[in-house]
Amino acid sequence: MEPVKGGKLADPPEQVKAMMKQYAPNASFASWAIRFVASLDGILTVLSGMSNTAQMRDNLSFMQNFQPLNEEERAIIRKAQEIYQQSAAVPCTGCGYCKAGCPKGIAIPEIFEALNLHLVSGQTAQGKAAYDRVIAAGSGAASACIGCKKCEGACPQHIAVTEALQQAAGLYESNG
Ligand code: SF4
Ligand code: SF4
Repeated sequence: MEPVKGGKLADPPEQVKAMMKQYAPNASFASWAIRFVASLDGILTVLSGMSNTAQMRDNLSFMQNFQPLNEEERAIIRKAQEIYQQSAAVPCTGCGYCKAGCPKGIAIPEIFEALNLHLVSGQTAQGKAAYDRVIAAGSGAASACIGCKKCEGACPQHIAVTEALQQAAGLYESNG
């Protein structure tokens, strides 16, 4: 399940995009993620969440007559993994599973999206503006978190939500 990590792997960092496009200009970024999973030993089925027919057609284009990743493609994936590991981004997929149980009504994924603007590309002002919009739309502030960790128990990515919220609060709530 979630071979494309809630869609995140369909929009990888620019450096990863460049490598993949150079090797296979017509392959979608999602296809790399899905083929990686389908190439693992013992995998019979890959469940890919699709939201439109274009995505379904894309999936069919490489899963019919499926070819496992070759050695060159595996090397590109390994390099992509290194790039992801070096990124300081909060690996939130935006699934929203954490939100239902939050007693403070904190819009956790939206706040992480704002935080990632700073962490990934240094767009701190844009991140602050995005954070302010999330709060104006009715979210509890990141600093309102009481640390009950209900969200962390619900998060399939095992994100340290409370720590990341503290980071967002320190970054976006302290300097107006
Ligand atoms: S730890 Fe914080 S963000 Fe998570 S559910 Fe509790 S109050 Fe909400
Ligand atoms: S923090 Fe975890 S549960 Fe919440 S939206 Fe992100 S990935 Fe999903």
